[in-house]
Amino acid sequence: MISVEEALARILAAIAPLPTVRVPLPEALGLVLAEDVIAREDIPPFDNSAMDGFALRSQDSKERQGQPPRLKVTGTVAAGYVADHAIEPGTAMRIMTGAPVPPGADTVIQVELTRHGGPESDWVEILQEVKPGNNIRPAGEDMRHGQLILPRGSEIGAWEIGVLATLGWASVPVTRRARVAILGTGDEVIEIDQPLQPGKIRNSNSYLLEAAVRRAGAIPERLGVARDTVESLREKFSQAINADLILTSGGVSVGDFDLVKNIMSEQGEIQFWRINMRPGKPVAFGHIGAVPLLGLPGNPVSSAVTFELFGRPVLRKLQGHTHLLKPQIEVKVEDGVQERAMRRHYVRAYVRWQDGKFVARTTGHQGSHIMTSLLQTNALLIVPEGGVVVQPGDTVQAIMLDWPENAS
Ligand code: AMP
Ligand code: MG
Repeated sequence: MISVEEALARILAAIAPLPTVRVPLPEALGLVLAEDVIAREDIPPFDNSAMDGFALRSQDSKERQGQPPRLKVTGTVAAGYVADHAIEPGTAMRIMTGAPVPPGADTVIQVELTRHGGPESDWVEILQEVKPGNNIRPAGEDMRHGQLILPRGSEIGAWEIGVLATLGWASVPVTRRARVAILGTGDEVIEIDQPLQPGKIRNSNSYLLEAAVRRAGAIPERLGVARDTVESLREKFSQAINADLILTSGGVSVGDFDLVKNIMSEQGEIQFWRINMRPGKPVAFGHIGAVPLLGLPGNPVSSAVTFELFGRPVLRKLQGHTHLLKPQIEVKVEDGVQERAMRRHYVRAYVRWQDGKFVARTTGHQGSHIMTSLLQTNALLIVPEGGVVVQPGDTVQAIMLDWPENAS
């Protein structure tokens, strides 16, 4: 039996990032940039006005004999258009936010600091002196032609998509999404649209894993459920040869019908198959042919928790991420954990932010078949190996799967 840390290190050492592909910008959300993004233009591309107002020469804004200067208005520059003439001394042009500053003007005064005779008027009075550059957003102030804007390896979120859009990256080189074959196992496992029969249960794991894989940005493919025979498993694995990862659930323990390991030895290799943790001791890792296989336990909670701890980091590494793990924080456990486990215990809990602290409450019965213990869970409390009891009010480390909505 190996430790969680060793298992994770050995799994990740066997995983390399997938090749680069180009995808249309909107499809890049959540993926990792495979090349540096360098600005090919200045952004903003031209000096433009930050206000609706008047473009003028700053010199012309100075008071004359205690009177506000009155300038001749020679036209209007709207956003999207370019002035067809320059600003001469003693003149101004109406200008809208985002419109290019006309030649000759070195400043913009906002409309509220002027007096004028309406939208058509050919005069304007400047009620306040303005300095050069006032209300002008210079070309290149945000990004300079040639500047490194996003290094390769950056994760593309909504805001990065906005930046890439403004730079004209209609398609983006990214590390491609992983294709994940998901296989249930067990003669007792039937499809979810089937009525229950004596001795049978529905295939919850494959659906839970499919959703978790999709949430990790990868492309799941459910291969159904293999019977507990080597023939059925062989047949199912033959459908997974093009996957980047095979995820199985069940069939990796010590029972007479736990045959996933047999197929791994027959068609590839087993690296290890037991981890010193609870839930989820029977986790197997190895290969079928060249495809990595992560064999998760059959018990639904074990399968969910081990996916979070091992499956998700694998998918992140495959997809080019460098931060693979969820954040860990210290939390105060309101109700404590009385159950002694000799193995490392990952206890499902809800963490909330209260009075300047993160406070956790466990989600009840922690059996690996108690799926309802996953509901309301946003964190896994880490209770160390060796039968540690966590008393109410004790502090432990927690892996945050999601932040509470009120964690402000
Ligand atoms: P196993 O490791 O195959 O012995 O499975 C351990 C437990 O998980 C058994 O109670 C199985 O019935 C259950 N189990 C296995 N596969 C699934 C599945 N796909 N969905 C729900 N429960 C399962
Ligand atoms: Mg089984």
